[in-house]
Amino acid sequence: MTAREIQAIYQTGKAAPPEIAETFIKKIEELQPKLKALVWFDPEFVRKQAGALTADGKSKGPLWGVPVLVKDNLCVEGVPTTCASKILARFRPPYNATVIERLKAAGAILLGMANMDEFAFGSSCEYSSYGPTLNPWDTARVPGGSSGGSAAAVAAGMTPLALGSDTGGSIRQPASFCGVVGLKPTYGRVSRYGLIAFASSLDQIGPIAKTVEDCALLFSGIAGFDQRDSTSVEAKVPNCLEELKKPVKGLRVGVPKEYLIDGLDPEVKKALEAALEQFRKLGLKIQEVSLPHTEYAIPTYYIVATAEASSNLARFDGVQYGYRSGEGDSLLAMYGKTRGQGFGPEAKRRIILGTFVLSSGYYEAYYAHALKVRTLIRRDFDKAFEAVDLLMTPTSPTPAFRLGEKLSDPLTMYLSDIYTISVNLAGVPALSLPCGFTPAGLPIGMQLIAKPFAEAELFQAAHAYEQASGWHKREPKIR
Ligand code: GLN
Repeated sequence: MTAREIQAIYQTGKAAPPEIAETFIKKIEELQPKLKALVWFDPEFVRKQAGALTADGKSKGPLWGVPVLVKDNLCVEGVPTTCASKILARFRPPYNATVIERLKAAGAILLGMANMDEFAFGSSCEYSSYGPTLNPWDTARVPGGSSGGSAAAVAAGMTPLALGSDTGGSIRQPASFCGVVGLKPTYGRVSRYGLIAFASSLDQIGPIAKTVEDCALLFSGIAGFDQRDSTSVEAKVPNCLEELKKPVKGLRVGVPKEYLIDGLDPEVKKALEAALEQFRKLGLKIQEVSLPHTEYAIPTYYIVATAEASSNLARFDGVQYGYRSGEGDSLLAMYGKTRGQGFGPEAKRRIILGTFVLSSGYYEAYYAHALKVRTLIRRDFDKAFEAVDLLMTPTSPTPAFRLGEKLSDPLTMYLSDIYTISVNLAGVPALSLPCGFTPAGLPIGMQLIAKPFAEAELFQAAHAYEQASGWHKREPKIR
C-alpha cells in the first residue's frame, strides 16, 4: 500500500489508523528476520500512536494515519537513536528532531528506526554495528547505503514511507539499489535540527517512497524554514502534490558528457538510454551539457566530508552519551578506550583522514584546496542550468553489488559514489527513481538534478516518466 492508497482508504472510512498500523506491524514481523531493515521496533509504540490519532480524530493533518519509518540518526524523544553505532548504544534523545515534530503534527505514525551504515559512513549498510540489511530483490546483495534500511523497508512493503539522510548519496543510491524513489532536497530546505551530524555543510534529510507522488507528499510534510537550524532557508515550499501534475512538455534536460565513465555498467547505460527515449516521447528536450570538474568530485568530497565528520564526532567521548569503556585509569585513557571500542573501522578511518586534512601543515594543501574546488564544482552546475532545467544521470554506476564485494577495499566503495556526491557539494536537489531492471531482476535507478529549490520540477519530470514507464508497479519476491 502506498501512502496515497492509505489516505484513499481513510476517505472511504473502510479502515482506521489502528487497522492500518496492524497491517504494517504484521508485515514488519514477517520480513524483519529476512531483511533486517529495522534496528528498533516496538509494536506497542506503534499501536499507541495509532490509537491516539483515532481518539482525537478532529485535526486530520496531511499525513494523518500514514506510517513512516525513521533512519536511526534522527532524534526521536525517548526512543533509542544510535546511528547504528556501538558508541551511541542506549542513547535515548531527550527531544525530537524538527522533522519528527513536523511528522507528528501532520498526524503520521512512526514505525521505528531503520538500519544504516554507522554514522551514515558508507554505501552498502555493511558498516552497521547491527550487521547489514539485505536487498529485497536479492538477499545476497546489499541494499545500498547509508539509508539502506529505509530503502529496503519501503521496497519490501514494510512501510509506505521512510526518512533518510543524504550527505553524498545516502538517500538516492539505496533508493536506486532497492527500486524506489528517493529525494535529496536542496541544502537548507529541510531542517537538520535533531539530525546527528555527519558533515554539516552537506547533510540533508529527505523522503524515500514507492512512488513519486508519495515522495512529494512526505517532502511537503518535512520541508520549510526552521529557526533552530541556522542554515535553514526562508523559501516558500510549493504544494508539490499539485505541482507534479503540471505538463512536462518542453522541459530541457541536460546529459553531462563527463558522466559516461569507464566503470559504467552496460545494463545501466542501456536503461538510461531507453529512459532518455521515453523523455523525448514525453516532449522533453534532451541536450548534452558539460560538468568539467566532475573528475575532482570524489577527492573533494572525501576531504570535506571527513574533515567535518572528524570534528562532529569529537563529542562522542564516553562522557555525555551512550557507550563508555570501563577501562583506563585517567580521563584521557577513558576517552581513548571508549572511542577505540565504540567506533567501527570505517568511522575510525574517516576520523583519522578528517583529522589529518585539518591538521596544521596540511590544512592549506588539502582542506582549503578542497573548498576552492568545491566552488568550481558548484559553478559547473550554475553554468549547466543556464541552458537546461534538469540534468539526468545514472544514480550509481552499477546495480546493487554483492555483500562483501567492496568491503576489503574502501576506495572502490568510495568510487561508487561518483554520480551522487557532486550534488551535495553544489547544494542542489536531486531525485532517484527506477528506470528499469537488469536481466537478473535487479533495479536500476536514474538521477534527476534541478536548480536550488526546484524540487517541484524534479517531481513533475519523475512523475511523468514513472506513469509512462510503470516500473514502480514491480514488486520484489523476497526469499
Ligand atoms: N557513500 C557516501 C559516503 O560514504 C555518502 C554517505 C551519505 O550520504 N551519508 O560518504
